[in-house]
Amino acid sequence: MAEHLKLFIAGEWTDGTGDEAYDVTSPVTGEHIYTVPKASSADIDRAITAAREATAEMRHWTAFERAEMCLRIYDLWQQRIEDVARILTLEQGKPFKAEAIDDIAESGDYFQIAAEDVKRLAGEVIPTTERNRRMFTVHRPVGVWATITPWNFPVMIPMEYVGPGLATGNALIVKPPEFTCWALLEMAKVFEEAGVPAGAISIIPGGGDIGEALVTHRGVDAVGFTGSSATGARIVSKMGLKRSIMEMSGNGPTVVAADADIEKAAEAAVYGTYYNAGQVCVATERLIVVDEVHDAFVDAAMAAAEDVTLGDPFDDATNLGPLNNEATAAKMDRHIADARERGAEVLTGGGRRTGLPTDLYYEFTIIDDVPEDSMVSQEESFGPVLPILRARDDEDAVGIANRTRLGLQAAVFTNDLTKAFYYADRIRSGTVIVNDSTDTWETFQPFGGAAGTDTGWGRQRVHEFTDLQTIVLSLRDE
Ligand code: NAD
Repeated sequence: MAEHLKLFIAGEWTDGTGDEAYDVTSPVTGEHIYTVPKASSADIDRAITAAREATAEMRHWTAFERAEMCLRIYDLWQQRIEDVARILTLEQGKPFKAEAIDDIAESGDYFQIAAEDVKRLAGEVIPTTERNRRMFTVHRPVGVWATITPWNFPVMIPMEYVGPGLATGNALIVKPPEFTCWALLEMAKVFEEAGVPAGAISIIPGGGDIGEALVTHRGVDAVGFTGSSATGARIVSKMGLKRSIMEMSGNGPTVVAADADIEKAAEAAVYGTYYNAGQVCVATERLIVVDEVHDAFVDAAMAAAEDVTLGDPFDDATNLGPLNNEATAAKMDRHIADARERGAEVLTGGGRRTGLPTDLYYEFTIIDDVPEDSMVSQEESFGPVLPILRARDDEDAVGIANRTRLGLQAAVFTNDLTKAFYYADRIRSGTVIVNDSTDTWETFQPFGGAAGTDTGWGRQRVHEFTDLQTIVLSLRDE
């Protein structure tokens, strides 16, 4: 029996006032799992009006009151992790035991971190040129955020915004894709229980049209966006003068230098390719190996690939579930066909596995001798494919690594500290990981792209959700 989900608007569960709905099937089973209403423009207006009222109230709360609210959310979150992880697996496809449970648990951590950070979000006292003048700064909430999120981490990515956003007194309207919104809506019950003011969070699932209605709305002060670079560019061209956080695509290179621990590099590269079926912005999208160790690396990668188990994501032995959607699977088909046409060799995998409940179970794939101009090297594949490119030497490897506009997170394997810095100093990437997978992540990590492709997050996310207000005080002449 498919679930009938409701929108969460202005503190109420509602069918909205529109007359359309989305029917969603599971990538795991192929069955119709839920129907969710499509919001009308009146529903969007209502969410924004309620959000304005909520932030107007919360800006007067002390940081300690908001921190307490976040800690209540964090505590209630802990009781729901396993139930919600089950829904996440069903709608998104990631393995339940190997990934979904940690994914939901980590999503709750954003509330704990925000509660700590907001209590230390201090302004400054600034020296002035006048003896009877005092000048200082305070952090104010930005206001109402349209928060547009992708399907690969349907709970965690919204919480990256909601945690620090609420802690600083903002209101957020979250728009997840309609086909991965169930786990998020289920977790929203925690916000109600924790006493979050009505309207401080609304959740309106939908497609690009709903997203665009939100980001262009005059009642919205700021946009938080995580998704593809193409959509990000469109949003920036449409939203006008609004504050924004833009988190976009990656094409993460991993470089294996001649002196690297080859086995460790191969295991990390394979992990960075199959984790969440490669549907991660920091997935290992390109493997650049220095010629000298090419053959040894290929052998080690093939050995590591034997530990990948594709199958039912509810089976504890599975570490590679289905892709989430047909668009992603079709992109994998195109990238692999193009690499083959250009003379690359598919060493393992290379297509969809048949005989499973949906057509979205993609074989773990390794492609060798990939030409740099092939699609799988140039574009973000977002699937479980490891393309191996050869480099003559370190300089050539840096050149290949840098020929992308998507410099989000890179990795380099070397046992030589000087060489590690040679690469870190030259690779244009928001983060460079030494001797671990590109898919290495800490909730505290400053994160974002290089070369103007991505605004990213600073060391304390709460900063991104506030405007700095300067207060100038003129004292009596004494
Ligand atoms: P997408 O750009 O297709 O969609 C992202 C969101 O934008 C969805 O909610 C979608 O409905 C919405 N949207 C689409 N068109 C819109 C429009 N015109 N106006 C407003 N909203 C619109 O991306 P996706 O396929 O859902 O996600 C995958 C992408 O996200 C990958 O490129 C991945 O690298 C990136 N990503 C980045 C990070 C990061 O932190 N940098 C994290 C996860 C995913």
